[in-house]
Amino acid sequence: MDTLARSLADTGLPHPLLVDASRAAVAEADPDAVEERARSHALAIARTLLQPVINATGVLLHTNLGRAPLAVATDAAYTNLELDLSSGQRGSRHDRAAALLARLCGAEDAIVVNNGASAVLLALAALAAGRGVAVSRGELVEIGGGFRVPEVMEQSGADLVEVGTTNRTRLADFEAAVRDPGADTALALKVHQSNYRIVGFTEHVGVAEMSSLDVPVVADIGSGLIDAACPWLAGGPPMWLAGEPAARQSLADGAALVTFSGDKLFGGPQAGVIAGRADLVEACKNHPLARALRPGSLVLGALQQVALSYLRRDGQAIEFWRMASLTASDLRARAQAVVSGAGTGETAEMASVPGGGTLPGVQIASAGVMLTGDRSAELRAGSPPIIARVGDNRTWLDLRTVAPDDDRRVIDALRALG
Ligand SMILES: *Cc1c(COP(=O)(O)O)cnc(C)c1O
Repeated sequence: MDTLARSLADTGLPHPLLVDASRAAVAEADPDAVEERARSHALAIARTLLQPVINATGVLLHTNLGRAPLAVATDAAYTNLELDLSSGQRGSRHDRAAALLARLCGAEDAIVVNNGASAVLLALAALAAGRGVAVSRGELVEIGGGFRVPEVMEQSGADLVEVGTTNRTRLADFEAAVRDPGADTALALKVHQSNYRIVGFTEHVGVAEMSSLDVPVVADIGSGLIDAACPWLAGGPPMWLAGEPAARQSLADGAALVTFSGDKLFGGPQAGVIAGRADLVEACKNHPLARALRPGSLVLGALQQVALSYLRRDGQAIEFWRMASLTASDLRARAQAVVSGAGTGETAEMASVPGGGTLPGVQIASAGVMLTGDRSAELRAGSPPIIARVGDNRTWLDLRTVAPDDDRRVIDALRALG
């Protein structure tokens, strides 16, 4: 077993995992094929490891591919995570990326937790446990990955006070809930519908209107668009962003708090942000769940890097926004170069999508390479794996979501397909 495992050392896996692969092969293969089986088990194990992939799907925030693309390179190092460098006293991790995020959103203060779901959970637990939270029946949504508003509410210990109807909710419905002594309403929650739309005979209450209520309004905007004016993009906000709620504007409209994810339209690492009124953020920081949901220095470092790029108004330094703002003609030129380099496939017009449960129905004109037949499994088997889209018995590689440095790798992979 040991000899067999050693013969697989070139796979780069540590010895104990090669022993596992060898054992599995011995258990199932005839003696002649055992070495080959062991190698294929070892490669299968290697493919379970977290690794970079080339996203040629055109889905900018692909949930299976880790949502926003992220570059973090850090050497092993201590950080001032909880040290105040000026005083030499104990500091707070909440004063790092969170302070920059508050600055960006125009908020008094902010706190960072592990994801968008934990941001909502913490805000509800800290501000409304044992009391009522008024939510429109049209916003009792489920977001991809099983974030269900009623279930998060239940876990927080707050009581759901349903308001209005699925398609129409008015301010008067909220006012009645806030007045109702039985409901003991502590908060009104506005949840962005994110991944679906109700059309037709509808009526919603916006944050600005809700802010006239006698209770604080928490707006779960979800996607983490920081500012509807997109000052980090030279060309201003792209058309496809229209109507997406933004943190800065929701707070300016009177939300006491906004909550959002770090890895959707914000373009950062998996994280959740609560930003807004200092007293309410302080209550979140002091709740015991804050300790359980706190991120580490890797996440805070990555978030800080992205926040600084926003403050520099440098959208090109944020990979998500760089990719999102490429024009179809840029992409067409790259597609032509890939096709001629590979000697196979055809350039084709395509439609990228924001993805990640944001902006349903939005399409962004794009371009890439089309192959005949389903070649997705072969592309996925390569190193690095290339993830493509299949439709109409064709394989589509949208170059919007492929880093330009990876075009060379795409060419090599297409050449290998022949
Ligand atoms: C995505 C989303 C969430 C959940 O955020 P995660 O980061 O996936 O935990 C919550 N609320 C809204 C409105 C969302 O769009």
